Amino acid sequence: MSLLSAVIPCFNEEESLPLFLSEFDNVCSRMKESWPNLSFEVVLVDDGSTDDTLSIMKNAAGNSSYGFSIRWISFSRNFGKEAALYAGLQHAKGDYVATMDADMQDPPSLLPQMYEILDTEDFDNVATRRKDRKGEPPIRSWFARQFYNLINHISKADIVDGARDFRLMKRPVVDAILTMSEYNRFSKGIFGWVGFKTKWISYENVDRVAGNSKWSFLKLFVYALDGIVAFSTTPLTIASLLGILLCFIALFMVIFIIVRTLTFGDPVAGWPSLICIVTFIGGVQLLSVGILGQYLAKTYLETKHRPIYIVRMSGESSNE
Ligand code: UDP
Ligand code: MG
Repeated sequence: MSLLSAVIPCFNEEESLPLFLSEFDNVCSRMKESWPNLSFEVVLVDDGSTDDTLSIMKNAAGNSSYGFSIRWISFSRNFGKEAALYAGLQHAKGDYVATMDADMQDPPSLLPQMYEILDTEDFDNVATRRKDRKGEPPIRSWFARQFYNLINHISKADIVDGARDFRLMKRPVVDAILTMSEYNRFSKGIFGWVGFKTKWISYENVDRVAGNSKWSFLKLFVYALDGIVAFSTTPLTIASLLGILLCFIALFMVIFIIVRTLTFGDPVAGWPSLICIVTFIGGVQLLSVGILGQYLAKTYLETKHRPIYIVRMSGESSNE
């Protein structure tokens, strides 16, 4: 017998969750026909929802008609999707673990195909990416592409453009991810950093079934910066290099001015250019201090060793 767990982070998903559960149930019964030795578990993580998500979870756990068991965890407040994923992975018991969204943007119908790959081929991990960025505002796509270009240049973690957090992993991969107990969690980087043999499959992007995405442009932008700080120290190097470069430029200008004064005398001129230079250098200094501050802030948060999430309630279904 092997067990497949699906980890579902949920934040205000009262509309999507019931649809997801019934779709997942269909997929389970189909998969049980092909692989009679497979059983299923759903780990629902309520990330401090303010709507009826929690009671839907509790009811689902009490509903014995599903072909899978349910384990649910409810946070004391909203800790974010990354924390919810971590909690879900910690509580999942499966030999195979899938991470997927509640809004059906990660179609459960792909699971049989993903499981088949892990079952028959030499892979540890099946990951998904969207085929293209259709239906997304062009400016957002542009920023996204720049971000992926940049982070892959400056980081060792393999972070794939358009990668979704929808994955099916074997147990060793899950255990590896759980050893990364950092407070600032950037899942896309963590998945890439642990390595293992990963097969990528792509699918057409689907819109969420109900509700709204919780991502605004600003949130995405800050998330991208967090990702860079979490998985690369290159910005620090750039700040240092910029400093060295400016020192050389200054040295060159000093020599230039000395030679010019000796040759042509010292007519008082150049105040506007002086102001430009002072402003420029002030800007570069602030930028560098800012970069330094970002890393210091993350270090500060990490050294506090705060828990990644706090559980308010949890439970599981009695049916198997
Ligand atoms: N989510 C969460 N905590 C949050 C925000 C989102 O657990 O603070 C969950 C959400 O319920 C969904 C998944 O993370 O299952 C993806 O969220 P969303 O659909 O808003 O993101 P998108 O698909 O637009 O990237
Ligand atoms: Mg979504």
